[in-house]
Amino acid sequence: MIKHALPVTREADFAAWYQAVIAEADMAEDSGVRGCMVMRPWGYGIWERIQRLLDDRIRANGYDNTYFPLFIPLSYFEKEAEHVEGFAKEMAVVTHHRLIPDGKGGLMPDPAAKLEEPLIVRPTSETVIGAAFSRWVQSWRDLPVQINQWANVVRWEMRTRMFLRTAEFLWQEGHAAYASAEQAKAETMKGLELYRDFAETCCAMPVVAGEKPENERFPGAEETWSIEAMMQDGKALQAGTSHFLGTHFAEAQNIRFQNKEGVFEPANTISWGMSTRMIGGIIMTHGDDDGLRVPPRIAPWQVVIVPMLRDAPEDEPLIDYCRELQGQLSALTAFGEPLRVQLDLKPAKAAAKRWSWVKKGAPIVVEVGGRDMAGANVSVIRRDRLYREDGKLDSAVLSRSAFVDEAGGMLESIQTALHAEAKARLDANIHRDVADFAALETFFAESAKFPGWVEVQWSKPTGPALEQVEARLKALKLTLRNTPQDAAPADGACFFTGAPAVERVLIARAY
Ligand code: AMP
Repeated sequence: MIKHALPVTREADFAAWYQAVIAEADMAEDSGVRGCMVMRPWGYGIWERIQRLLDDRIRANGYDNTYFPLFIPLSYFEKEAEHVEGFAKEMAVVTHHRLIPDGKGGLMPDPAAKLEEPLIVRPTSETVIGAAFSRWVQSWRDLPVQINQWANVVRWEMRTRMFLRTAEFLWQEGHAAYASAEQAKAETMKGLELYRDFAETCCAMPVVAGEKPENERFPGAEETWSIEAMMQDGKALQAGTSHFLGTHFAEAQNIRFQNKEGVFEPANTISWGMSTRMIGGIIMTHGDDDGLRVPPRIAPWQVVIVPMLRDAPEDEPLIDYCRELQGQLSALTAFGEPLRVQLDLKPAKAAAKRWSWVKKGAPIVVEVGGRDMAGANVSVIRRDRLYREDGKLDSAVLSRSAFVDEAGGMLESIQTALHAEAKARLDANIHRDVADFAALETFFAESAKFPGWVEVQWSKPTGPALEQVEARLKALKLTLRNTPQDAAPADGACFFTGAPAVERVLIARAY
């Protein structure tokens, strides 16, 4: 049996395994404030890669970056009733701007320094960006406006989990205003497609794109669309959302333009966001019992060279040999970017360094000892397939020049392999043969630990009828995820009501 690098396996305890990956891969740690984490270089480095690649796509989609303030006056939220109602229960509020001694050796807010109007630490920026749009948009000539912001936001979540659900998180939020609803809807779908493509291509994370049912909509939205990814425990993770806001925010915030006929109309707005939750999704999509496996496109370092140092004079030529390799590799490109190559010269045992990079999930680890150097070779470990069939570590001796020739292709093949593995899992675990509610209950009760998702036909109930569906599912710890864009058309009866079905919807346990 293989002795894996992590103290706990996915099979034994998935939640503990998830925390172990984050700790052992040095990605993040608790900060002392509940729900707020410290992102260490490897975790933050993955976020920087996500930012870089996503930002390129956002710009190519015609959006410019901007920055809006962290504090938003409460009155801005109060203008849109549904929006404020949705976020009220998780808003952090600033009420004072000065502290004074409390007479017991501590400090307290100065009653004389109470703010006239409370300020909300932004949970999302529709309201403050809408206020700017109302200044910027006067005529049809000012439209569309398309902007993006990279920022931190705060939502006082009760149950937090690193990366997946934190009180403070990092994200990008795209916001845009258009003259017509048709155009705004089309652009909402472009945002969704951008996320789908980014998740699949860059994060090797297969997703299902579709519309959220009414009860899961963003507060104030007319339509919310999401990409949902399947984690290795069969749960769903909402990995990004794109909202068609109609004229709700425009009416509330007076975003009006004079049309070509000279008549004033409210604009149609949209917004879309993806957050550091994505990193949690990457862990639970690609991690294994030896740690994380980072898809090469978003790996901070794609190749890590580990010389077997002995703290002796013969280290010198070995380091030179490795530096030369680092130089050769760094001159190459993969996925249209220069290779990111690290040389690990830390004064630690080579085996310890090897396993630390395996746990971090660097796509390729190259070990170089005296014998490798003597033969002009290197020993290469591919993180996507760590072990041979006999359970031994699969370290291949290649000539240094052959490895240099192959490295770019190897990274591309790792990216493809990780996607294929996750895609096969997603496809195999969407069940379409669950006949009725009783069967659904049995299915989730009986199926192994990692049950996957169930797709059913439904009549798209709304209001109280939808609430009833939601309550029945909740009793089984299940939720409606989305109505997949490319599902087969409905041709039967509604799973919940027996009425004629109009579309298909996914049911799953979710993060
Ligand atoms: P929303 O503005 O609510 O649509 O959120 C946009 C995206 O941010 C969601 O699709 C999630 O992927 C992510 N997200 C929402 N809440 C959190 C949270 N507490 N922590 C991390 N990511 C979040």
